[in-house]
Amino acid sequence: MPRLSFDIDAVVEGRARLTEAQALELHEHASLQDLGDWATAVANRLHPYAHRTYVIDRNINYTNVCTAKCTFCAFRRDHEDADSYTLDYAKIGEKIEELISIGGTQILMQGGMNDRLPIEWYEDLLRFIKTKYPSIHIHAFSPPEFVEFERFFGMDVRDIIRRFKAAGLSTIPGGGGEIFAPRVRRRIGIGKCTGDDWLRVMRVAHEEGLNTSATMLIGHIEFVRERIEHMAAIRDMQDYTLWVRKDNAYEERAGRIPDVDIDAIRRRWPGVFEKSPFTKPKFNTVEPGAYTAFIHWPFQRENTPLGRAKEWDEATYGPFDDSTNEDILRGRVVRSAGAASYLRTLAIARLFLDNVASLQSSWVTMGPKIGQLALYYGANDMGGAMMEENVVSAAGTTYRLAVRELCRLIRETGHVPAQRDQYYHILKKHDGPDSPDLLPDPHPPMRDVKQIDKTTIGRAPGMEPIFAAMHNGHADDADRSTKVALPILGS
Ligand code: SF4
Repeated sequence: MPRLSFDIDAVVEGRARLTEAQALELHEHASLQDLGDWATAVANRLHPYAHRTYVIDRNINYTNVCTAKCTFCAFRRDHEDADSYTLDYAKIGEKIEELISIGGTQILMQGGMNDRLPIEWYEDLLRFIKTKYPSIHIHAFSPPEFVEFERFFGMDVRDIIRRFKAAGLSTIPGGGGEIFAPRVRRRIGIGKCTGDDWLRVMRVAHEEGLNTSATMLIGHIEFVRERIEHMAAIRDMQDYTLWVRKDNAYEERAGRIPDVDIDAIRRRWPGVFEKSPFTKPKFNTVEPGAYTAFIHWPFQRENTPLGRAKEWDEATYGPFDDSTNEDILRGRVVRSAGAASYLRTLAIARLFLDNVASLQSSWVTMGPKIGQLALYYGANDMGGAMMEENVVSAAGTTYRLAVRELCRLIRETGHVPAQRDQYYHILKKHDGPDSPDLLPDPHPPMRDVKQIDKTTIGRAPGMEPIFAAMHNGHADDADRSTKVALPILGS
């Protein structure tokens, strides 16, 4: 690789902080292998133990009615649509009971942004869950939902968060982060909150004592520098929240206590501070929260409006980043992110976000193989062994992993799998012969494969008689949605 213009060892060892220009330089010039080595060294410094973690959780998408119209979304519906829904408390309770029955500890509950639900509906729901299932951690309602709640309920987010917290909300997921740059957000997140508002909700959540996560969506119309600016906003706001935070235990775990220039942060992100004011009390009665994890994943184009855009190629459209090409600026072409781009960005995030303790692998979108590889590119956590996921799967992603499979993926990287809770406390270390991945599997998983193209399945040489038999002698009428159960190889 070409010589870097800065001392990368100092960054890896935690003696220097990566600048945005240096992060861009790494993206342009460092090899993927070097990035993986450096990011792994940082992950090992921040998490110097044998285990890598996962959580057993369940996504509950309580409604698919949404006032926003994100162009990357295949999940949202209008009230009038025949398949729009809002789950009642009993149905949500059933889902939680299923989760508890497999040892799950947390729900990740997010909507649509449904303008017909009053604040009492949410408070009653939180109280219902907290009372009936006290062991369940409620990780719910992303910043775009809170910004819409401000509009729906005519209240400031601080008051809403206080009421939700009193009713049982424990932490807030970082959904809807996408890319903060207004140019990108205007194009892809139609009706969704601004980047400033996203960061403001999380600032207030931290000030009010709630932990949150941070997210980023890559591989659409964003420039690489906009990915890095996005990470810079998260790092700055984490500096701010650690400054607000009184207890230094978290900073020690995160590996670095930043020299914070709060005024510079306020000047850089004025929109994040202009509403929902906070006065640091002389004596803290609430321990502020922080970003506990960063997760990024690539845009999934299937079934989405943005997915109809053409794929960028340099010969046709010219250079992507910083182009003045109208097709790129207007979002008529997208630059998808494959495995290499995902891993490169992950490694840079590990090097850049020196004050965010955990980076999650995004196996839900990248699949188990790349999800596993992420542990060699800076991730220290596999995220959730999810029972249910609707938003990403509506856009074509279908990966779901059982606990034993997640454990196997972690163990194959040379680590001990460990179940954690939302605070990253270890609940169970799988270091004995009774570990889920070491026990024989009484029910080998099967997957449904949709027959979508007779030219590749039904018309294979020698298959016609079989299809004719399956479909009363009419091979050509074979139902294109027939499902075939196949064992998953290697499980
Ligand atoms: S991504 Fe979320 S906010 Fe955007 S349209 Fe879909 S459900 Fe609504």
